[in-house]
Amino acid sequence: MLNLILFGPPGAGKGTQSEKLIGAYGLKHISTGDLLRAERKAGTELGLQADAYISKGELVPDEVVVGMVRNFMKENADANGFIFDGFPRTTPQAESLDGLLSEFDTKIHLVLGLEVEEDELVKRLLLRGQSSGRVDDQDESTIRNRFREYQNKTLPLQSYYEKSGTYKGVQGMGEIEDIFAALCAHVNEL
Ligand code: ADP
Repeated sequence: MLNLILFGPPGAGKGTQSEKLIGAYGLKHISTGDLLRAERKAGTELGLQADAYISKGELVPDEVVVGMVRNFMKENADANGFIFDGFPRTTPQAESLDGLLSEFDTKIHLVLGLEVEEDELVKRLLLRGQSSGRVDDQDESTIRNRFREYQNKTLPLQSYYEKSGTYKGVQGMGEIEDIFAALCAHVNEL
């Protein structure tokens, strides 16, 4: 198995680059944001609970997202590997992921961090909000709240993965193809 994490703030391009990496390496994509939005669309209890957090730009409780990831991995146990997008976002989530992967006799091989300046991120998210209709991309105060959550709860994970030697940062501004090539170069070094 080859297991990658795409790491970075909201709007860094994780979804775009995940799509390309899945194609190139035959991995299964796990986006907790997409899974949560699917629950919301289906009108499940979990979707309704999550909605209250998402619309304010807050993180959904760890046990909710960890449960979703566990189910997804069990349903896709025959995969060549996984690409985690938007997960883990907190230290307890990262620890749960390590535990889950060890149940599968595997681990995280590489954490690819997309590095983009905040003003560029706000511009990208407001633009995305015009076409995607995502509730959390509509106004700047919700977007700024997501950055605060990222700074406080998610960014500490960078040093968690630096300690295990799996973190590689990549410049996330510029052409999509150039960023993809930089990501692939790290994967190919494994
Ligand atoms: P973005 O990276 O642009 O913020 P996502 O689709 O990854 O978009 O996430 C949208 C929202 O879904 C987050 O702001 C958060 O409320 C919720 N969410 C997604 N993944 C997680 C997670 N791993 N832990 C907690 N909340 C999450």
